[in-house]
Amino acid sequence: MIIVMKKSATKNHVDFVINEIESKGLKSMQLFSTEGTIIAIIGDERIIDQNHISTLDGVSRVILVLPPYKMVSREAKREDTIIKIKDGVEIGGNTIQMICGPCAIENYTFVSQAAKSCKAAGVNILRGGAFKPRTGPYSFKGLGKEGLEILQQVGKEENMAVVTEVIDVRDVDLVYKYTDIMQVGARNMQNFNLLEELGKVDKPILLKRGISATIKEWLLAAEYIMSGGNPNIILCERGIRTFETETRYTLAIGSVPIIKDLSHLPIILDPSHATGNPSLIGPLAKASIAAGADGVMIEVHPCPDKALCDGPQAYTPEKFSQLMKELDPIAKAVGRKF
Ligand code: PEP
Ligand code: MN
Repeated sequence: MIIVMKKSATKNHVDFVINEIESKGLKSMQLFSTEGTIIAIIGDERIIDQNHISTLDGVSRVILVLPPYKMVSREAKREDTIIKIKDGVEIGGNTIQMICGPCAIENYTFVSQAAKSCKAAGVNILRGGAFKPRTGPYSFKGLGKEGLEILQQVGKEENMAVVTEVIDVRDVDLVYKYTDIMQVGARNMQNFNLLEELGKVDKPILLKRGISATIKEWLLAAEYIMSGGNPNIILCERGIRTFETETRYTLAIGSVPIIKDLSHLPIILDPSHATGNPSLIGPLAKASIAAGADGVMIEVHPCPDKALCDGPQAYTPEKFSQLMKELDPIAKAVGRKF
């Protein structure tokens, strides 16, 4: 942290600021310029409240040097984190993982058909929601426990890892029993109680970016989970809300190189929820892989017309298998494989 004092600041102002810093056990160094005194903090500035310092008499500006998150930062760990999902399935290594399946688990037949076709196209991780966070209270909210049972059964039958969303702290233990990866949806990214509970579990967490969250807020949400004791976090960019109305959200492809720079955690992209439109999902899946994503989440449904949730954005198995063929050369071009 660098504290720039006003030109008019007195020695008392400077001494007060230094005292505030040193009372927290940190050291400070004063630099003198024609524009006034500059105080540099030596040590981990994150224990100091930037807003408090900004309001002290004589302070002009406070500049942060370190990011507010620690454990998820690239400084904390130089090498990329690779997360083991199950035997032979990792996220963050050289293999790009596709995470596919229906938006919601509606019945065994649909999930099984989706899983079979995705598996045949080379997908190792099956998705499906048993608890659906819906914008309106009258929409289908998922089958709950019955949905978890179906997902787990189909995952076993097809030898696929499974991921499903947990939307409530009260369901953490239940969802834990049925899934390989626990998903935190965009609407829950800042549900700090939920994040703290997921810090206590020993299964990987797929943390979606909130629809209006900054990358810093997203990484701070990941820090909640990691500082709680769970280092296995996969970030998922799923589009943010912008002024654009042609797509459901705006997929921030730039998140990939930014996250790779700021953090050691793997990142996947979700063009299905970002665009809500199959004609855009394919091109953005390609762009995601080209940008260096560690995986892509795509909703696939055997009968999109009959889907109870997000049917219009679902890929049919046929279209999805064609897309996988088109993604292959892009993965190879960036030195990755499926
Ligand atoms: C989902 O993946 O099922 C979902 C609801 O996504 P999001 O939280 O990104 O809206
Ligand atoms: Mn969906």
